[in-house]
Amino acid sequence: MKQVVVISGKGGTGKTTLTASLAALAKPSVLADCDVDAPDLHLILKPQVRQRGDYQGGEVAVIDQDLCTDCGLCREVCRFDAISEDYVVDPFACEGCGLCPRVCPVDAIEMVQERAGEWYISDTIYGPMVHAKLDVAQENSGKLVTVVRNFAKKVAQEKGLDCVVIDGPPGVGCPVISSITGVDLAIVVSEPTVSGIHDLERAVQIAGQFRVPVWVVVNKYDLNLEMTAEIERYCKESSLPLAAKLPFDEKVIDALVNEKPVVEFSDGPVTQEIRRLWSGLESFCHS
Ligand code: SF4
Ligand code: SF4
Repeated sequence: MKQVVVISGKGGTGKTTLTASLAALAKPSVLADCDVDAPDLHLILKPQVRQRGDYQGGEVAVIDQDLCTDCGLCREVCRFDAISEDYVVDPFACEGCGLCPRVCPVDAIEMVQERAGEWYISDTIYGPMVHAKLDVAQENSGKLVTVVRNFAKKVAQEKGLDCVVIDGPPGVGCPVISSITGVDLAIVVSEPTVSGIHDLERAVQIAGQFRVPVWVVVNKYDLNLEMTAEIERYCKESSLPLAAKLPFDEKVIDALVNEKPVVEFSDGPVTQEIRRLWSGLESFCHS
């Protein structure tokens, strides 16, 4: 089984647009949306949820008011000011350090697992999809990304599918690291701007740390040919394959508005280039 993640140094580079099209071309494969903070692949792939479950985040302290004697010890030791004057724990401020139950003289504090989100295993017309949603104000999305990836691998094994296409989160933080570890290939989507090149370099650096091979895709390359040439130079110097140069094409917006992968919406230049990318990727996935 091959796992391919599509990432970008920041959001808004066309990462999900490309992933949705690769999902359509890779049909049937397993699709994993690891952008759990702001998932949007489902808007295009329209999954039918067939299994769901709670994602348990960290632990939070809960005070039993019937047992509490108002001694104030827990408030004194809490470095996160998570306990109010009337001894109620703010679950958003509690870091789950577990110190307050240890100092409570009457065992009035319990650490409980807190629901932090939900995961889904769904069907799409392109293959099974695993996705998730972090609850509002929850953190630790890296752990939820790992949950999504583990389910995606399991589903691929159960269904005998040999390709997992992953929509990675934007940026270079913990969720990206969880998305990239152990994959066979990272496709880094860049754009021809100064910050785009900087983001590309950071994404390539992270992939390098985890020994993941990288293919580079430049989106809207024709909007700044000078910067595109800069990216080409960088790729050559770094021995990175520049796998595709996607031109600006208004059909991409039209496809998004119509909630379809662009390769199923238009046969224009973007679609041609994504198909060319897929032909190389197909060989890689089935090698
Ligand atoms: S578990 Fe730690 S962070 Fe949470 S309320 Fe207790 S002392 Fe504060
Ligand atoms: S340490 Fe225990 S008894 Fe004291 S205020 Fe906190 S919860 Fe109440």
